[in-house]
Amino acid sequence: MKKTIPSWVDAAVPNHILSIPSYHAGKPIEELERELGIQGAVKLASNENPLGPSPLAVQVVEQRLKMAHIYPETAAPELREALAKHFGITPDMIVLGNGSDEIIQFVSHLFIRPGFNAIVGSHTFSMYRICVEAFGGHIRPIPLRNYRFDLEEIARAITDETRLVFLTIPNNPTGTIVSKKELDSFLNELPTQGIIVVLDEAYHEYVSDPDCPNGIEYVGNNPHVLVLKTFSKIYGLAGLRVGYGIASPWLADLLNRVKPPFNVNSIAQAAAVAALEDQDHVNNSLENNRRGLVYLEKELSKLGVKIVPTQANFLMICFETNAEPVYGALLRRGVIVRYLASFGLDNCIRVTIGTEVENHRFVNALREVLNHLGT
Ligand code: PMP
Repeated sequence: MKKTIPSWVDAAVPNHILSIPSYHAGKPIEELERELGIQGAVKLASNENPLGPSPLAVQVVEQRLKMAHIYPETAAPELREALAKHFGITPDMIVLGNGSDEIIQFVSHLFIRPGFNAIVGSHTFSMYRICVEAFGGHIRPIPLRNYRFDLEEIARAITDETRLVFLTIPNNPTGTIVSKKELDSFLNELPTQGIIVVLDEAYHEYVSDPDCPNGIEYVGNNPHVLVLKTFSKIYGLAGLRVGYGIASPWLADLLNRVKPPFNVNSIAQAAAVAALEDQDHVNNSLENNRRGLVYLEKELSKLGVKIVPTQANFLMICFETNAEPVYGALLRRGVIVRYLASFGLDNCIRVTIGTEVENHRFVNALREVLNHLGT
């Protein structure tokens, strides 16, 4: 159905809200199966954990469902305590979100007003832009260099109106990181007041490069750093929606003030505690990812496609020409990947590293598609 906005709404709702771009999510499996009348499609489009949730979390969810009539604890003491212990920090440094998406919204709510800006990489996660524009600010995208954040250019782009800098480590959709040295010198040169640096570490658990910075270590030394983390990726709880921010107590306190009281439900809180303690599941997920990456790198290089070296649970693949036909042809074979036009990368797709079976399915489908399209 066409969405016609009544004319009085145009006047009542600020333009910066009317013009917010919509979020493009990975295509749901059920939707594709309905559209094509097929069964057994695979989704490698949203960087979810292909091994599913931690079995310990599933058990807890079943138990906690019986208490679903009771409101959750607003401060989520058990989960914040467990996270504090896990990272060797104090619970007053933690703010919980309905996914880390919501923390991006909180920090934009606190710091962005019309006239202010936030700096991001040119090809990165779209929620930064959506949230910053929702509060009337504007986004300054700085070109990536060799698919990596260019911290020198980002530092040069900072103006008196800059309030937030979003650094995504590893970046979505490129899977690239910045080095400790690069981040150290960026933070050292930053003005001591006025700017919050958000280190989005949604995929940090997958990183194998020892030169990758660890955001938590920066929070203590730099009061203006906010680290974002999530239970949606390696912990396999994307559908339950739990993410969190770690920051100096004063910043966590401010973020908590704009947090709706019951944003993370009681079942999700309990599941997150169980998942955090399930190191076996984390290890299995890491091992699956490592093996899958080795396999995909090998098979994709045989297909002669260009891949960007990744530190995450997904891989970006670039073609000579627009990737939409490849994306569409994969869909028709029941394989959902992410076409990256909405990230400004028309020639690229992003594929989540799946189970062995899913990875084979993707490679076979891609081989067929490339032969068919004559690429
Ligand atoms: N940051 C990045 C870089 C992401 O890719 C995502 C999810 N795709 C998120 C944050 C948000 O994750 P969630 O809201 O599920 O915690």
